[in-house]
Amino acid sequence: MTQPRSPAVTVTFAGSGDAFGNGGRYQACIHLRPAGTKPVLLDCGATSLAALKTLGLNPGEISAVFVSHLHGDHFGGLPFLILDGQFSSRIAPLTVAGPPGTARRLAETMECLFPGSSQVRRRFAITVTELAPGTTGTVCGVGIRAWEASHPSGAPALLLRLELAGQVITYTGDTAWTGAIADAAADADLLIAEAYYRDKNIPHHLRLADLDTHRDQITARRVILTHMSADMLGGQRETVYEYARDGLTVIL
Ligand SMILES: [Zn+2]
Ligand SMILES: [Zn+2]
Repeated sequence: MTQPRSPAVTVTFAGSGDAFGNGGRYQACIHLRPAGTKPVLLDCGATSLAALKTLGLNPGEISAVFVSHLHGDHFGGLPFLILDGQFSSRIAPLTVAGPPGTARRLAETMECLFPGSSQVRRRFAITVTELAPGTTGTVCGVGIRAWEASHPSGAPALLLRLELAGQVITYTGDTAWTGAIADAAADADLLIAEAYYRDKNIPHHLRLADLDTHRDQITARRVILTHMSADMLGGQRETVYEYARDGLTVIL
């Protein structure tokens, strides 16, 4: 008899919404917990601290945040995450891995929201690792590859392919369709894909129509849609893809 496989990675959609709170959802924040090691985040939108705490996920445990691009609904929660660590006596180091320009934009955002906060001495180290498109490497034990997405945000936006606990998870962030999505998601265990609108052509974003059109190029074993507008949430149509919601947990 086959024994049930123990979970390798627990994926929790803490925030599955767009930038504007449609559907009452939190902004992009996906919590990945590999068995036996510290969790990491994929994106940390401005609302992420509330999203994590709503689900009882301890922000102080997070060892790394992988940022797809430098828009507020994807990285604007970092100052709050860092200050929460500071005020809760965090000592475990935190790594932020994001596009070129992440270190400067993070410092500027902290200074804008909480003047003086970027220069404060803390009991924990913050390391910023900038990932140019084409990067292959390892960050906090997570294998990472980055491709350039098609989404202007003041710095190159990234498609991220993470390998942790033997599982491959690809994340589009926000992007218009590009062939790099198929490359980044090739044979992945899970593709987390933006599906902002159903058919309406919104520049620099993915639509469900794009994913349907390119379905034969997507070889990921499982596809979950996120970052949905009111248009997508208003009438979920028949599709082979799954829909995320805040609090959805998937075991890989
Ligand atoms: Zn964006
Ligand atoms: Zn976004």
